[in-house]
Amino acid sequence: MINIVIFGAPGAGKGTQAQLLAEKYDFLHISTGDLLRQEVAMETPMGLRAKAIMNRGDLVGDDIVVSLLSRALEHRSTLPNPDASLDPWDVERNGMPHRPEGCIIDGFPRTVSQAQTLEFLFGRLKRKIDCVVAIEVPRDELVRRIHERAAISGRADDTEDVIRHRIDLYDQQTTPVLDYYRVSGLLVSVDGSGEIAQTNNRICETLDMVMKIKSKQ
Ligand code: ADP
Repeated sequence: MINIVIFGAPGAGKGTQAQLLAEKYDFLHISTGDLLRQEVAMETPMGLRAKAIMNRGDLVGDDIVVSLLSRALEHRSTLPNPDASLDPWDVERNGMPHRPEGCIIDGFPRTVSQAQTLEFLFGRLKRKIDCVVAIEVPRDELVRRIHERAAISGRADDTEDVIRHRIDLYDQQTTPVLDYYRVSGLLVSVDGSGEIAQTNNRICETLDMVMKIKSKQ
């Protein structure tokens, strides 16, 4: 099992890359943004509380995000004929339990305190983070991409002011988290200014190396 955390400012392509990596390497993909948007769409009590905060581009409270994340990480399978050997991350494939090769977390942690919480949650599952990928894109390019995305995404938080606010917040709050992972030797920065496929190749080169090292341990 290999467990990855992926970082990127709004517009860096973090969600797209996480999805591509999940397909290629057979990872369970957990996106806190997607989990929150589902709650909003279903108008659950958590969704109703998160909606206005997300629309402003601010960070949703840890009580909500951590509870959604731990639910996703520790989800007990409701697969047919569950037996004691089922793992919380097992998914159904062709009617049979299937164990993914690992996990990719997208959107969490966004603060140092969330990074500590993630370690705790992984520890509870007897797992650990193997690699943290940060997709680096210059600010001008981020703004340009988000303008493009806003025209088609329909996301209420993709308006000009909110986007700038989300990028500022990313810079302020996430930089200390990246430093935290840099110190622990897990951080790999990848140039994300080019095409999707180019960035994907760069990340895959890194992950292939991490997996090779891990397989020898
Ligand atoms: P983006 O990368 O474009 O900011 P996400 O889908 O990761 O998009 O997140 C969308 C919104 O969901 C964030 O702006 C924030 O309001 C909320 N959110 C997602 N993850 C977290 C988190 N870990 N902590 C707090 N809020 C979060």
